[in-house]
Amino acid sequence: MHIKFHKIREAVINTGIQMLNSQLVVGTWGNISARVPDADCIAITPSGVDYDTITPEGIIIMDMEGNIIDGNMKPSIEYSLHLEVYKNRPDVNAIVHTHSTYCTAMAIARKSIPGAAEDLVQIVGGDVKVSKYALPGSKELGKEVVVALKDRNACILANHGCLAAGKDLKETLKIAFVVEKTAKATIYANMLGGVVELDQEDIDFMRNFYLNKYGQR
Ligand code: 13P
Ligand code: ZN
Repeated sequence: MHIKFHKIREAVINTGIQMLNSQLVVGTWGNISARVPDADCIAITPSGVDYDTITPEGIIIMDMEGNIIDGNMKPSIEYSLHLEVYKNRPDVNAIVHTHSTYCTAMAIARKSIPGAAEDLVQIVGGDVKVSKYALPGSKELGKEVVVALKDRNACILANHGCLAAGKDLKETLKIAFVVEKTAKATIYANMLGGVVELDQEDIDFMRNFYLNKYGQR
């Protein structure tokens, strides 16, 4: 195992355990990847392996064409989806794909999450759109997700789940949490009579605040 990949592999494993413990996934579904710093390749979870059993060698290092550079397992069936997002989004360094409960509800109803909660519009950039349906593991899924992800850091995959894409693994997992929480809140709000969306001007203000001022700097 190449020692230079160790840190990013540990970070992917750690993100998987947090994703599992927070019940964003059930069983082995979902997957995670990150760009390897200073190299034109990614680290991605293996296919169908329990998150709490993945070893560093089980995390696959692959180049941007999908060739395996290092790792002793079969990569996630969604590797071409992850690569397609990285190829089209230079701002994205990590991807977390979940099958979380409330996002799955939105996915099977094919309903977007409106831009109505302040934390959501700050971290995602607006509403969370639903991609057109494509089979899991297909190249087409990657193309559709890139469309739904335009100007956003998350989208819903029709009849499937959620995809969060951010600047690093920590932020990306946070995006997945906020999207799941907002999917749940949206369902409750609809029971209360509906969602009141934010004005675009206010969304732009909050997005700019999140990107340039929010938190410790
Ligand atoms: P993998 O276990 O191959 O990553 O597949 C799970 C999944 O979520 C497919 O969309
Ligand atoms: Zn999936």
